[in-house]
Amino acid sequence: MAPTLPPRFVRDRQELDAVLAEAKQMACPHCRRTGMVVGHGLLMGYAEHGSELVVRGRRLLCSRRFRRSGCGRTFSVLLGTVLANFVVRTRTMSRLLEFVVGGLCRKAAWERAVPGLTMRSGYRLWARLLAVQSRLRTVLCGVEPPPATTDVRPMAQMLAHLRQILGGTECIFAGLQLAFQRDLFR
Ligand SMILES: [Zn+2]
Repeated sequence: MAPTLPPRFVRDRQELDAVLAEAKQMACPHCRRTGMVVGHGLLMGYAEHGSELVVRGRRLLCSRRFRRSGCGRTFSVLLGTVLANFVVRTRTMSRLLEFVVGGLCRKAAWERAVPGLTMRSGYRLWARLLAVQSRLRTVLCGVEPPPATTDVRPMAQMLAHLRQILGGTECIFAGLQLAFQRDLFR
């Protein structure tokens, strides 16, 4: 049986704990050895608003302690709603895209998607989305061709394509990360 690689994203806290229970059977994503992976604590970070700390995922270690022969490197399993390296979560990003495609300017869309956060991070995240757009569309086209649309805006086409593939997922970018097991911005 081929060793199971750990997921990059899981749905909720319960699945995050299941990862810990299954760590021993997992292969390390770096060195591919099995039986060396151990829990390395919860991954905490700030919530979108305020200074409250929230669970973002779980860190795991490929252990070389106690005569284990792992590679000593760590890796993380994240909740599907987490954007690695950003405090902003996928729901805000999904709403930003939906509101812009719906006709709002980026500023108005950002303020509606996540009231109270600076416009600077809104522009920054939008730029990131633009930067990964063509790669994302390639990934989506690998599943099925985009739906026919009269909307010529690339972002609108991408949103329609995402909706077609992910169906009724409430948050399209969480749905994307979970379905494809890859980071939105990587
Ligand atoms: Zn390893």
